[in-house]
Amino acid sequence: MNTQVHGIGMTSQRTRVRMVERLRESGIRDEKVLAAMGAVPRHVFVEQALAHRAYEDTALPLGFQQTISQPYVVARMIELLRASKDGTPRELGKTLEIGAGCGYQAAVLGMLSKQVYAVERIAPLLAKARVNLRELRLTHVRLKHADGMLGLKEAAPFDTIIVAAAAARVPQSLLEQLAPGGRLILPLAGGGSDQVLSLIERQPQGFVETRYDAVRFVPLLPGVE
Ligand code: SAH
Repeated sequence: MNTQVHGIGMTSQRTRVRMVERLRESGIRDEKVLAAMGAVPRHVFVEQALAHRAYEDTALPLGFQQTISQPYVVARMIELLRASKDGTPRELGKTLEIGAGCGYQAAVLGMLSKQVYAVERIAPLLAKARVNLRELRLTHVRLKHADGMLGLKEAAPFDTIIVAAAAARVPQSLLEQLAPGGRLILPLAGGGSDQVLSLIERQPQGFVETRYDAVRFVPLLPGVE
């Protein structure tokens, strides 16, 4: 059993394999996404006191009123970004993540793309993400303390943009920074507590939106702290 990092059985490779089996049972089909989920040790990203729950399919608190996303939702968003009509998954290309938190999804993206930028508005969370990604030697995932509502102009345009916090509508900067043929996924808030995963593609005729699952994310907030 591989128990190197925190020295407890629940963080083992075997527990992670079970998580991947559950993702498969829940309907995730993209083998590369499943492999990436199996390769990233989620327990590294959660508070040590919660490490024994790292491979449950649930969101967990990160501090600062934020959460590490549920594994199924991370896998689902990335699968939707990669899905294509002919069945051959599309490459993510240059990818921007808004709302890196402690860096878990950024690490999964880092397994699937050589160019990942991830921004986070809460400085201490970003500092944790830096430590975590360094520990996994994912040095090609570039982190930035910034308001992701403005996108990341210096690295635009992006083939893929993934937003890990819910907004009432799509920030204009993100649409502008999407490359032709690019895709953006985000939870869009309706009235009340409803949110829905929304995939937006930049096609020659304009932006085309497709709506998927009901989800629950923390809010996308302006400014940095
Ligand atoms: N991607 C993370 C999820 C973190 S929760 C994971 O893999 O688990 C969502 C994060 O979005 C929070 O850390 C929150 O601080 C951040 N966030 C909210 N609004 C933001 C904004 N405008 N710019 C950057 N980050 C933002």
